[in-house]
Amino acid sequence: MTVEVISVGTELLLGNIVNTNAQFLAEKCALLGLSMYNQSVVGDNRERLKEAITTALHRADIIFLTGGLGPTEDDLTKETCGEVMGLPLVEDEHTRERIENYFKNSIFKEIPENNWKQALVPEGALVLDNDNGTAPGLILEKDGKRMILLPGPPNELIPLFQKQVAPYLQKLRPELIVSRMVKICGKGESQVEEELLDLIDKQTNPTIATYAKTGEVHVRVTASAPTEEVADKLIRPVVKEIKKRFGVCVYSTREEETLEMAVVRLLKKYELTLATAESCTGGLVAGRIVNVPGASEVFREGFVTYSNKAKRKHLDVSKSTLKKYGAVSRETAREMAVGGVFATDSDICVAITGLAGPDGGTEEKPVGLVYMACCLGDKVTVEKYQFKGNRSKIREQSVVRALDLVRRTVAENYGK
Ligand code: ATP
Repeated sequence: MTVEVISVGTELLLGNIVNTNAQFLAEKCALLGLSMYNQSVVGDNRERLKEAITTALHRADIIFLTGGLGPTEDDLTKETCGEVMGLPLVEDEHTRERIENYFKNSIFKEIPENNWKQALVPEGALVLDNDNGTAPGLILEKDGKRMILLPGPPNELIPLFQKQVAPYLQKLRPELIVSRMVKICGKGESQVEEELLDLIDKQTNPTIATYAKTGEVHVRVTASAPTEEVADKLIRPVVKEIKKRFGVCVYSTREEETLEMAVVRLLKKYELTLATAESCTGGLVAGRIVNVPGASEVFREGFVTYSNKAKRKHLDVSKSTLKKYGAVSRETAREMAVGGVFATDSDICVAITGLAGPDGGTEEKPVGLVYMACCLGDKVTVEKYQFKGNRSKIREQSVVRALDLVRRTVAENYGK
């Protein structure tokens, strides 16, 4: 079954907003096993929209239209779809009541006259209640073609899709699509692909796809099967094999789990406490950890020791180390991590010191050079990286590696 997205809105064509709805729908459709070959963007213009819809109807079985469902004159999506499909607009009693209730609970005393336009739907449309706005989602079906109309604001479109459209699409398919993610840190995408080449080459069901994120690679294993149980049977051995090949580099197989969540989960599991001592990342590692609900159980304290003076004052890095080896050095990173453990009485401290640039690099110590250290008990691991990219890219990559260093240190000493 093929799908296509038409995003409606002049704002999109002018570059005033980013088309995140198309990205969201593309990702979700891929997960549902629906093939998408085309996407288009049209301004708020009836003729051009008509043309786009007519073209899409020739190519795809299901057409998503996003935006242009509002109450104003330039909102034309519903009217144009109805026209192309030959479905006149009729009032939907239920939507009219919903609009009344929506306004009763809002700050508006009177319902603006043009909002009633939103109670009109193409005849026979399946109406999807929008809990976060007045424009309902609509599904039109005719001659084996389907149009799915969704409001533009992502906070309306996403819940509508998840609660009502995804189950609708799932029912259209004879087979279920089930997928599992294997999240890898510490290897590049091409390296991961190379190590999976034999599996990728012979893939049919399940399929294997890799996605690169900053410092991470996610591998999605997707199976199509009549039941969840059968799909699971197909997926499980492949996931097992991937986990075997990448060992400690696999940090999670849970869809929603981020790297920092995996770190906090492991620290909790082994009842370990963490401190951070950051120079070039300026608190970003601590920030990522604190993003995780329940981090207070494991996170003790974070230092941002940007100057030499701060490194000495808070982490007791020795004057002679700083003088002899410099702030960006293996030795300083080591002393920062050890000092962090002492200063906070934590089980673990991760330290990061590096040159994020764009200035300050030398031949011996170029921009992008980052040392990080992790102290656990009397063991200190120090790692050296040479990152590429601008200042923010270097800092982002450092954060990912630092989080992963904590994760690997715990996994290697206590277990995964
Ligand atoms: P409303 O009922 O709020 O008027 P609508 O369905 O008419 O919704 P639009 O008027 O086209 O939608 O867009 C409303 C807002 O939704 C835009 O200002 C923008 O913030 C967001 N939006 C619209 N289309 C997209 C898109 N493709 N990706 C991301 N955001 C979008």
